[in-house]
Amino acid sequence: SVPAAILSGLAAAARGGVLFKGGAALEMLADVETFAFDKTGTLTTGKAVVTAVEARDDEREFLSLLAGLEAQSEHPIADAIRRHAAERGIVPAPIRDVVSLASAGISGVDARGAELWAGNRRMARQQGADPDDSARADLQHDGLQHDFLHEGAQTIIWLGRGTRILGAVAVADRPRETSAEGLAALRRAGVGTIAMMTGDRRAVGLRIGAELGFDPADIHADLLPEDKVRLVGELAAHGRVAFVGDGVNDAAALARADVGIAMGAAGSDVALQAADVALLSDDMGRLAGAHRLARRTRRIIR
Ligand code: ADP
Ligand code: MG
Repeated sequence: SVPAAILSGLAAAARGGVLFKGGAALEMLADVETFAFDKTGTLTTGKAVVTAVEARDDEREFLSLLAGLEAQSEHPIADAIRRHAAERGIVPAPIRDVVSLASAGISGVDARGAELWAGNRRMARQQGADPDDSARADLQHDGLQHDFLHEGAQTIIWLGRGTRILGAVAVADRPRETSAEGLAALRRAGVGTIAMMTGDRRAVGLRIGAELGFDPADIHADLLPEDKVRLVGELAAHGRVAFVGDGVNDAAALARADVGIAMGAAGSDVALQAADVALLSDDMGRLAGAHRLARRTRRIIR
């Protein structure tokens, strides 16, 4: 039978908005050596906003196509693009046969039968449209700002038709208000390593990481979902690993971790299925609270 201390620990956690799938997960959390965090939608709000738009031709048509593609994606970036278009009264173009490529972007076919895609450099390269090559020089010639093309510490989403790049938007996200304090509390508790695993570019990961006190050596960027799984496995060789994610492109990592922790009130079904623990609010402080509770509970039962 389950020890009374575990039952009361689970109940106390639930009152604080943290649901454990069982007593084993609570005991496991007490001994976690490494906490690995997804970035977008987990450390950050996931409420990104479009901060710049650069279109080769007509900007409204460009945004209509982009919003049409992103209409069918659940990614926080897609949300930002849809809201930006809506705020400007731009109607998303009808796009069919939409295919999502995790941690890269999305593709589909427009009303004229042309294949469109949107996403990061990885996506662009898969389509034979490297923003670094002649297509990029061409765009620059057409007036795309140099620093925009340079990408810097912003997330850039390119839109292309085949190998032709039609333009790009910059998207910015910011850390949750509770992320810095929540992570600081974990550090004070003496957790071994606090790592970031993101599908975004390293420059963006470093910028967010600097605000949250991450050691640059513990920031892993440009990852595909399977890279996150592999890295969780590598870290697990050195001790127990908890992965904290929102379920977008990281459900497999949640499942692979010793303790998978799904973040957020609006946590997706995949996240909840893959995880061992669900944080029912977006407050990162709850995570540190659950960790303290797990340690207290384990002290009682041993
Ligand atoms: P994170 O690991 O930080 O949560 P993801 O793995 O979800 O990030 O996404 C990584 C990158 O993949 C994004 O920064 C973006 O460049 C690209 N991407 C993913 N989904 C989309 C989409 N629907 N539209 C455009 N780009 C996308
Ligand atoms: Mg994410």
